[in-house]
Amino acid sequence: MAIRHCNLCERKVEAKREIGVGSLLLVLLTGGLWLIALIFYGERCSICKGNSLSNEKGQATYSIGHFMLGLLVLLFVINLIIM
Ligand SMILES: [Zn+2]
Repeated sequence: MAIRHCNLCERKVEAKREIGVGSLLLVLLTGGLWLIALIFYGERCSICKGNSLSNEKGQATYSIGHFMLGLLVLLFVINLIIM
């Protein structure tokens, strides 16, 4: 959980990842593989549920950290499948 600026609410809001029952079912159905997809789930505004969040006013929401983490997990899984 983190404090972000919501571009829709025009204020600082609590950002959280919305992981619902559907996501949990997908994790079970895919034997945990869907956990990789959860990494890419964006943070959402706790007030308007919008995903137009930024660290500071005007900045993009794109997170290279999450992208790299997802890439690493993906490579790890591919490695497991090949071996
Ligand atoms: Zn909002």
